Amino acid sequence: MSSPDCLFCKIVAGDIPSTRVFEDDVCFAFNDVNPQAPTHILIVSRRHIDSMDTATQVDKELLGHLLLAAASIAREQGFAEDGYRVVINTNSNGGQTIFHIHLHLLGGRPFVFPPG
Ligand code: AMP
Ligand code: ZN
Repeated sequence: MSSPDCLFCKIVAGDIPSTRVFEDDVCFAFNDVNPQAPTHILIVSRRHIDSMDTATQVDKELLGHLLLAAASIAREQGFAEDGYRVVINTNSNGGQTIFHIHLHLLGGRPFVFPPG
């Protein structure tokens, strides 16, 4: 279920401190330690999955759950109407640095597209 050397598994377990924003039985959300926008929240699955690249059909419901959690948090925090961005960095070219699947929920400023 969890991976012993994984930073986000340790955060989910409470072994490493984080600023919790939301949690339920499937996911855990906390502020990014190096925010790239006025609001920058990470939404991670409680169950360890390395990345989008290793997710399978078994994870279909979990992935939908993470997306709906992002939408719900954005509404709850009051920036949904203005707009926001959800990002899932994947593998090296995608800029993934922590190999425990997570969504970046970014809000509070406009974002350009395509991203850098
Ligand atoms: P990624 O590059 O998509 O894998 O995203 C990893 C994110 O985790 C980065 O935005 C980091 O700033 C963030 N991060 C790393 N360590 C921590 C931590 N201890 N608490 C909160 N966020 C972290
Ligand atoms: Zn993990």
